[in-house]
Amino acid sequence: MGLHDFWEESVNNIRLRRFLVEDLTIHEGACIIAGGEAKHISKVLRMVRGDPLILMDGKGACFLAEISFVSHNEVTVEIKKTLPAAPPSPIDITLCQAVIKSGPMDYLIQKTSELGVNRICPFISSRTVVHFQSDKQQKKLKRWKEIAHSAAKQCNRAIPAKITPTQTFKAQLANLESEPGIKAILWEGETARDLKALIQSHEPRAQFIGMVGPEGGFSPEEILTAQKAGFSPVSMGARILRSETAAVTLVAVVQYEWGDLNANKDFDPF
Ligand code: SAH
Repeated sequence: MGLHDFWEESVNNIRLRRFLVEDLTIHEGACIIAGGEAKHISKVLRMVRGDPLILMDGKGACFLAEISFVSHNEVTVEIKKTLPAAPPSPIDITLCQAVIKSGPMDYLIQKTSELGVNRICPFISSRTVVHFQSDKQQKKLKRWKEIAHSAAKQCNRAIPAKITPTQTFKAQLANLESEPGIKAILWEGETARDLKALIQSHEPRAQFIGMVGPEGGFSPEEILTAQKAGFSPVSMGARILRSETAAVTLVAVVQYEWGDLNANKDFDPF
């Protein structure tokens, strides 16, 4: 695309605000937005009748729409055009992530979402540092999902990363054991095999499952248990990375090798 075309399209569409509405229903070409997104449109951004926006349904559909009515807590929009959704990554990446302190946990959910992780499965293991409070789990999950949604809107991914409820390390392994694909557990104590060698020893696959430990790392017993469940322990070098750095790096590397960190010649968003 030439600079001129790009500019034209930027003006027309790329800079439009994106809003994600789950359970989006279109009736006779119109759609009512309620809840947080409506508040954001009317109260925060003060958008008005006639303003264009992009609506995403979180399931892969995208629409160009125009505000037709703003009320106290609802915004009605007219659907103008169906937009082609950005294609999902060709590799289905699952990040099994030990729950870590809330700031770094939020950070890694945002960053790996931008990098195109498909699913994040939080878990609690023996050296988890954060205090696990089961009554706070629902609230945490909701917050993590919101972060994944905001990241999806910001980076123009049509389907946000899924976040599963927090499980124990053992339950997590039991659930993933039967899933296909390449499985790796990041372990700073591994000296024989590294992530690069693991990737290079396989043809590109459709699914990759990577596991990252908490601030306190994995215990040797946990590494053994994971191995029995089909996970290869791999090193990412001699430097010990923080959990969130390890998670972001893992997703970036897998996406670079087998995914879509490339110019997409087949995708014209408009
Ligand atoms: N507490 C441990 C470090 C844990 S780092 C220690 O001080 O020794 C947190 C997590 O990041 C680890 O469980 C591992 O999954 C991942 N990680 C960090 N650096 C790594 C490396 N160099 N190779 C592989 N995994 C790493």
